[in-house]
Amino acid sequence: MSTTTFTKAAPDVPPVEPALTPPPEPKAGTATFVKNKLKIAAGKTKKKEFPVGLWTKCPKCEEMLFDKELDENLKVCMKCRHHFPIGARERIHSLVETCSFEEADAAMTSVDMLGFTGTTSYKDKLAASWKKTNLKDAVITGIGQIGRQRVALGVMDFSFIGGSMGSVVGEKLTRLIETGTEKEIPVIIVSTSGGARMYEGMFSLMQMAKTCAALAYHARAKLPFISVLTHPTMAGVMASFATVGDLILAEPDAMIGFAGARVIKDTTQAELPPDFQTSEFLLKHGLIDAIVARNEMKERLMDYMDFLMAGRRAAAAGRTV
Ligand SMILES: [Zn+2]
Repeated sequence: MSTTTFTKAAPDVPPVEPALTPPPEPKAGTATFVKNKLKIAAGKTKKKEFPVGLWTKCPKCEEMLFDKELDENLKVCMKCRHHFPIGARERIHSLVETCSFEEADAAMTSVDMLGFTGTTSYKDKLAASWKKTNLKDAVITGIGQIGRQRVALGVMDFSFIGGSMGSVVGEKLTRLIETGTEKEIPVIIVSTSGGARMYEGMFSLMQMAKTCAALAYHARAKLPFISVLTHPTMAGVMASFATVGDLILAEPDAMIGFAGARVIKDTTQAELPPDFQTSEFLLKHGLIDAIVARNEMKERLMDYMDFLMAGRRAAAAGRTV
């Protein structure tokens, strides 16, 4: 049997006939293709011809963006600078020097401590998320180099259960901060999160105190922590480590807050300003220090770290500033 498979032409197998799209004899095939394409294109814009999956429509300016160019531009719209969501791995790649990132605690996974069941059980939710996102949890942490500075870098990923902070996120970030303190390097955490992971109940809430306690030790060692807020950063994450940075940066137009706008409106019965809970609003009101576009983030972080670490570098060199 196997020999027939490799023979040049199996006499009893008819030549393959396409069911729907007739391809191809060289000349006539080409003519058909062109003719069909012209028919489709008639009276329409050119953009309609492009295959689905290669183009993304910007939700803000409605421009059709070529996926490859969008990826090269770090998922920032080339026309209106709308920031699309970006995965943790892509973001790390955009920030650190090539091959400099050493991931920590890569295999740490959540445990269903409470035996939580709802519409789906936590166990099933976790299994589905591992499969869907190819991530072990909602944060990736490790040591990398940005410019000439080694940093302890943690980046959250919203695609894993809404970037929620459970025990694993809290523990990985705490270990990251402690490593930063031990190695005397700055900590940078890029957040995106819906808040604490309610599947883990109190275990998720205690991560708020744990991460902040580690940051307090980091601050006591006079080492900087830069918090970068991206769309969306809400609730338990916003109410803990994300807002205790020595420097708090945010991407443009990001939704940032504690409770959702609707809850606040219902509770206070007050009209909320249209830009409520955006980076721009929070910059105006002094909660964040700067809005930085994604494709300028790396350079800005390098500048800030140069500034924040100048004293320490000078002390190491035996000088004062
Ligand atoms: Zn746009």
